[in-house]
Amino acid sequence: MFPGADEYGLDIDVADDAVERLLAVGPDDVDAPESLSFSRNVFLPLTTACRYTCTYCTYYDVPGEATLMSLDEVRDVVRMGADAGCTEALFTFGDAPDERYTEIHRQLDEWGYDDILDYLVAACEVALDEGLLPHSNPGDLTREQFESLAPVNASMGVMLETTADVDAHAGNRRKTPGQRLNTIRAAGEEGVPFTTGILVGIGESWRDRAESLLAIRALHERYGHVQEVIVQNVVPNDRSDYERPSIETMRRVVSMARVALPEEISVQVPPNLSEAASLVDCGVDDLGGVSPVTDDYVNPEYAWPALQELADIADEAGVPLRERLPVYARFLPDEFRPSGTDAAPAPRNRETWIRDPIADRVRGEDVHSRRLRRVGHGDGPLSTPTR
Ligand code: SF4
Repeated sequence: MFPGADEYGLDIDVADDAVERLLAVGPDDVDAPESLSFSRNVFLPLTTACRYTCTYCTYYDVPGEATLMSLDEVRDVVRMGADAGCTEALFTFGDAPDERYTEIHRQLDEWGYDDILDYLVAACEVALDEGLLPHSNPGDLTREQFESLAPVNASMGVMLETTADVDAHAGNRRKTPGQRLNTIRAAGEEGVPFTTGILVGIGESWRDRAESLLAIRALHERYGHVQEVIVQNVVPNDRSDYERPSIETMRRVVSMARVALPEEISVQVPPNLSEAASLVDCGVDDLGGVSPVTDDYVNPEYAWPALQELADIADEAGVPLRERLPVYARFLPDEFRPSGTDAAPAPRNRETWIRDPIADRVRGEDVHSRRLRRVGHGDGPLSTPTR
């Protein structure tokens, strides 16, 4: 059982023989994808406060230095993104600020919000109003918290990182694998299209990598909600000197991800952190959210490649590039889905994956809704034709 799993009553079985089979997988065992996809987003670091202090992380700021975006600032960024043709408002922060962040709590209270998740709902509403679909990564959540955030998010996510207990999550306040798996399970129970992933090079073993991928598969087999799995390598930065995993390591892990996960789940690598062009033939079929207008605040030293570079990666791989929405097409209502894409079976406890505020935004009559529909149908302006 994974560290912390008992605390959350998690029953995830990963069979030893499945782990052994996956450990034997390499690049020769997978096929190259038929196309590559990506979404155009703006990045909104709603707050840089986080209760944890993961050793590889440069995102969080300590109490007294952490920032909180105002709704006016959120509106400025999402408006700029919508004007630049983006479809996704990517709201990212760590885990809910604890009591040490008195200034953040005072500010939220002054603005009339109970906590950061309450505030996130308001920020998502601003993004919808301006014509973007929110995709939020606000750390670990309970089922009740997903229930309040799901109506204003097209999809959501949290990185599993690893099922192992690693020193990289050191300190008095540390997140546990059980907590992350519980979040992925809660998203499935609430019928939220979900993104997760593993972080490679933070002290985990090859067996841990295999077990992490199989744990994600087990939860997806139960709920059908995982849309993509990011295979992200750690990078050295101002706070740590982790060694970047070799390209051979990444090719093997990506191949393992492709074999471990069902075909409908995309395997993604972030092209600003990975040598994406050298990984495509190992089964990568998505390049993630790419911003033409904002920085990657999680890895600020590693600039996003220009959109042309994504087209070059696809060209080198000999496959078309497809612009997509933050939520994958199979979760969209029938009228927004491209022909040839089957609908995902309805979630366990709901009739539809997409809630009314999101569907209404896509269904609207303004220029933004028309753009969202075009991209949803696979006719986004930055899609390249099949050869
Ligand atoms: S990796 Fe995430 S949880 Fe860990 S310190 Fe950074 S923001 Fe917080």
